[in-house]
Amino acid sequence: MYATVLHGPGDVRYEQVEDPKILKPTDAIIQLSATCICGSDLWPYRGLSGTDGPAHMGHEYCGTVVEVGSEVRNIRPGQFVVGSFVLSDNTCPHCDFGFQSSCVQREFMSGVQAPYARVPLADGTLVATLEMPDANMIPHMLAVSDVLGTGWYGAVAANVREGGTVVVVGDGAVGLMGVMAASQLGAVRIIAMSRHESRQKLAREFGATDIVAERGEEGIARIMELTNGVGAESVVEAVGMEESMKQAIGACRPGGSIGYVGVPHGVSFDGQEMFFAQKRMLGGPAPVRRFLPDLMDRVLAGRIEPGKVFDLVLPIDQVAEGYKAMDERRAIKTMLKVA
Ligand SMILES: [Zn+2]
Repeated sequence: MYATVLHGPGDVRYEQVEDPKILKPTDAIIQLSATCICGSDLWPYRGLSGTDGPAHMGHEYCGTVVEVGSEVRNIRPGQFVVGSFVLSDNTCPHCDFGFQSSCVQREFMSGVQAPYARVPLADGTLVATLEMPDANMIPHMLAVSDVLGTGWYGAVAANVREGGTVVVVGDGAVGLMGVMAASQLGAVRIIAMSRHESRQKLAREFGATDIVAERGEEGIARIMELTNGVGAESVVEAVGMEESMKQAIGACRPGGSIGYVGVPHGVSFDGQEMFFAQKRMLGGPAPVRRFLPDLMDRVLAGRIEPGKVFDLVLPIDQVAEGYKAMDERRAIKTMLKVA
C-alpha cells in the first residue's frame, strides 16, 4: 500500500510501504475511514523534535476492523472502531485508575496516515460502535480519537465544573476542542484566548462566551478585568510554550486548576513561585480511552460536532499539502480522505 512517511524536515511523502500485518496475537488490522494531521505532527515536520530516519506518520484514526490476532476477544472483523492515540491494555492499575495514557504496556500509535494500519493491544485500545455509522459521522468520530479527547482531558484536568469559569489558552484545534469540552461540562463563562478571526468564530460556535485577543501580561490583565480581579478557577493550556504556560498560570485563581495538554517545549517552572501561587496542575498525554465511550455516544446522539474543526479536507495522496497548509497556519486541521 501507499502511506505517509516523513523523511526529514518539510519532507513528507506518500509512498509505497509494506502492508501492515498481525505481528502479535493481541493486534488488529483496521481499514481507515479517514485520518488526519495533528498539531504534534508539525514538531518533527519542522525539525523541532528529532526522528531516527523515515517515520510512518499519523496517530488519529477510526475505521473498520479487517483482521484480528488470535488473542483478541472484544473486537471482531466488520466492526467500526475508534481508538486512542495511546495504545493501552485497559486492565493494568494505571488503566483502572483512568490513566490509560500511562498504561504499563503503553505504546504510541503511528502509521495511520494510510489506508490500513496495525493497532496493537486492540482489546484495550479500540471501542466499537453497535452499527456502522453514517458517512457524515466520520469526521466527528475521527476527531474523538485525539483532538477532542485531548481537549476534553484538558477541561477535566482543569476541574471544569457546572457553572464554572474557564479560560482556554491556545486557539489551535485542541484549544477549540477544550472550549467545546468546557461547554459540554457545564461551564457558563468560557474565555477563549485567540487572535485569529476565523478561530474566534469557531470558538464562539463551540461555546466561548468571551474572546481575549491580547497575549502575555496584557492577556492576563484582560482576564483579571473579566473576572473581577480574581482569575478563572479552570484554565486549559493547549499550546506548550513558555509564554502560553505563563499566561495559563497567570489567568488561574489561587486554588484553581490548570489542565495542560500542549506538549511542553522549553517550558520550566519556578518551584517557589508555584508554591506561593497555590495552583493545581495536571497535564500529560490525554487518557483518551477513558473518555471514548462517552464522547462517541455524544457524537452519535448528535450533541456535538467536533469534526467542524477540520477546515481542510484532502485526498490522502495530497498529504504533503496538508502538512504545508497547517505549518503555514492556512488550515487549523487537515482531514485526509482515504477512499
Ligand atoms: Zn494498562
